Amino acid sequence: MTANLLDFDLDGLAVFCEQLGEKRFRATQLFRWIHQKGAQDFDQMSDLAKSLREKLKTCAQVLPLTPISRHDSADGTIKWLFDVGDGNAVETVFIPEDDRGTLCISSQAGCAVGCRFCSTGHQGFSRNLTTGEILSQLWFAEHTLRKQFNTTDRVISNVVMMGMGEPLQNYSALVPALRAMLDDHGYGLSRRRVTVSTSGVVPMMDRLGEDCPVALAVSLHAPTDGLRDNLVPLNRKYPLHELMDACRRYLAHAPRDFITFEYCMLDGVNDQPEHAQALIDLVRPQRGLAQGVSCKFNLIPFNPFPASGLTRSSAATVKAFAEQLSAAGIITTVRKTRGDDIDAACGQLAGDVKDRTDAASRMAKQRVIALKQVPS
Ligand code: SAH
Ligand code: SF4
Repeated sequence: MTANLLDFDLDGLAVFCEQLGEKRFRATQLFRWIHQKGAQDFDQMSDLAKSLREKLKTCAQVLPLTPISRHDSADGTIKWLFDVGDGNAVETVFIPEDDRGTLCISSQAGCAVGCRFCSTGHQGFSRNLTTGEILSQLWFAEHTLRKQFNTTDRVISNVVMMGMGEPLQNYSALVPALRAMLDDHGYGLSRRRVTVSTSGVVPMMDRLGEDCPVALAVSLHAPTDGLRDNLVPLNRKYPLHELMDACRRYLAHAPRDFITFEYCMLDGVNDQPEHAQALIDLVRPQRGLAQGVSCKFNLIPFNPFPASGLTRSSAATVKAFAEQLSAAGIITTVRKTRGDDIDAACGQLAGDVKDRTDAASRMAKQRVIALKQVPS
């Protein structure tokens, strides 16, 4: 069988090279050619012995995902759609800013969590991406943009696992991909600039802290179990007190001394002053009660899509909510919407998913129930 070398972190590649009778430093050379120089052709890898190059040609390849389309937004944001086979496609978004270039990467074709406000969730779940499919989004974007900008310098400085899918439900493929991103012989990204975003898969948050601590964002979206059960169904399995405990445990390993809580602002659903107060009570230390969590809030104005039946909070409501949290001493930012003219904003990534979970009808039923009884 032909191995795809994009499936390996450096340790994995070293094991592969060892099976070919090659020393670890050969794996390091190979890894650098692939990830630092974007090489695909073994003949290009001039410092590898000719005999090794010939051997590699018989058993290995560097096989990135194939892009189906590319859309460029007026604000510089770029969205690619990649074919992942069997009628599935995933999206990747590059967001340029003055001081950084951020790539938003997908981890699954679809998502099984099924959050009500998320268009990926409404599409259901097809399958996990492999390590190579996760990593090749970075490989492709980095080397395509270097050519486009005519530079040999790094273009992507930050990665956020905030595309399609729940990264912590694809843990075994995620971790080697993260390791390759962090590796000095790979992309050399700082742990503080690689963010995993999760809807709250508690046991995997613990494992990530042990195996590969990077910056963590937790999609909170509600201050109470009643409301969160409804918006983020995973809350029924891992309720808020367990999630807050997991955040506290993660902080012992995290490269940053805070967790980022993401909070999607939904008109009339979770955006009222009592919700802000309940959030403050949830994360602030209180005498004799909860311990608090060191955190920042990132409020995301909801990006609407028709099937959700939800609307975006007004700018004034978002501002008032942010001020209420800030007044309680919680650092709060409001996420700027980028790339919405090309449907590349948060929650708009839909790719193409051959759903195997019947999500559309399941969520339509939920919507009817939810609209009848939205608890606060
Ligand atoms: N599954 C992971 C990562 C992907 S979603 C997670 O849920 O954290 C990335 C972020 O976009 C999450 O915070 C998610 O809640 C948010 N999001 C999803 N749908 C959205 C929408 N329609 N508008 C704004 N943000 C949305
Ligand atoms: Fe999945 Fe995240 Fe969307 Fe929820 S918000 S459905 S966890 S991708």
